Amino acid sequence: MKPETDSWETIIGLEVHAQLSTESKIFCGCATRFGDEPNANTCPVCLGLPGALPVLNWRAVELGARAALALGLQINERSIFARKNYFYPDLPKGYQISQYDQPFSAHGTLEIMTAARDEAGHAHEWKPMTIRITRLHLEEDAGKNVHEGLPEVDRYSYVDLNRAGVPLAEIVTEPDFRSSWEAYDYVNHVRRALQWVGASDADMEKGNLRCEANVSVRRKGDTSLGTKVELKNLNSVRFMQKAIEFEVQRQIQTLEAGGRLTQETRLWDERLSETRPMRSKEEAHDYRYFPEPDLPPLVVTKNFIEQARDSMPELPGPRARRFGEKYGLSYADAAQLTASRSLADYFEEAVRASDGNARGTANWIRSELLRELENAGIDAGKSPIPANEMGALVKMIDAGKISGKQGKEVLVEMFATGKLAGAVVEERGLVQVSDTGEIDRAVDEVIAANPKQLEQYRAGKEALFGFFVGQVMKASKGKANPKIVNERLREKLK
Ligand SMILES: [Zn+2]
Repeated sequence: MKPETDSWETIIGLEVHAQLSTESKIFCGCATRFGDEPNANTCPVCLGLPGALPVLNWRAVELGARAALALGLQINERSIFARKNYFYPDLPKGYQISQYDQPFSAHGTLEIMTAARDEAGHAHEWKPMTIRITRLHLEEDAGKNVHEGLPEVDRYSYVDLNRAGVPLAEIVTEPDFRSSWEAYDYVNHVRRALQWVGASDADMEKGNLRCEANVSVRRKGDTSLGTKVELKNLNSVRFMQKAIEFEVQRQIQTLEAGGRLTQETRLWDERLSETRPMRSKEEAHDYRYFPEPDLPPLVVTKNFIEQARDSMPELPGPRARRFGEKYGLSYADAAQLTASRSLADYFEEAVRASDGNARGTANWIRSELLRELENAGIDAGKSPIPANEMGALVKMIDAGKISGKQGKEVLVEMFATGKLAGAVVEERGLVQVSDTGEIDRAVDEVIAANPKQLEQYRAGKEALFGFFVGQVMKASKGKANPKIVNERLREKLK
């Protein structure tokens, strides 16, 4: 039973944890590599052994700055690391080094594109929306408790501390989202922005992008916020969207039935498609933050911030707008071609190689190349067809050297074999003959060899035109450009 949702308003705030793409951890020299033997990448600092001292990895600061700038945030010249105290087996120090009242970065506004979806999940009518970002702070990750795949897991708990001390940027928004799809579009925007500037791989499958949603509902017109529920265990952006959707319905149903909501943390269970209460990790949310005594304040200069700003690439939003203006692409096409920086770069290089046929190149990439890339699970930057060869193929089709249909076959073979466009065309003997001299010779021969048909045609039997086209095409072994064959025949049969 679906409750009467029209009289309710949904309020959502999001927290994203993104692993910064450093080689080593944030406060020690241990590797951040994913998939190594459990506890292989540990040392006294990240194990929390007594007397070990943290030293800040400056690369984490540089990548944090790129992340902040990519999301439209201000960078604070001075920020403070703080201890967030809580007990959990994956946190050997008994506290996490984070930032609290003086974060690295704060106060941003980010414009994203968002769209409502129909029942099948198809987006319609994309429109801009501004999100206020409260803060971005730097912190270390905790380790990971392992409950599966090891001997006697019913008797023992295991802990892998390879992840302990890996640098994270935590990005917190104001409660600005009013629907699960807005939240979905925001997280995808953030993910792409972080990947785009090289701040994070932002790969949710590897756990290097995680998100949490704070969800509450209130009756329309109410000004105070309702009881908020924190959603965790959202292992993909789509799961997050589904979890929010479920939670909104659950909260409205509870309230409409006269029930009360509990402020709690709930987990998404993908198998059952529902949220359920989580056993509380910390009984009370009193982390007793205090400044980390082993680390000095983090100070960055104006010059550092300027340099970071200068080294930023053109961001996805502006780039999509430029694609629209410069190349005459629709928003949907431009958005698709800026889905990743490597694809956007690929497109522009291919356009140059095609001698400026942007629309044609966009169509070939969108309809043919992306399908091949998706099927093979390959990123545009690693396409077996280099961008300049994609452009070369478009140019051949434009020049009438090969037909569009042949072009599709050539593209598939180039993708499968890594061969160049010209080589495939030559090997397959595909080159379309557009040389009028050569076509004229074939036309003359065909006319001379078929005097009877010529007579009938000239007497008005126009259907015979197709016969002549067929004969010329046959004489050229199918290689003659049909458009030119038609033109020359009309001329010579007069
Ligand atoms: Zn370490």
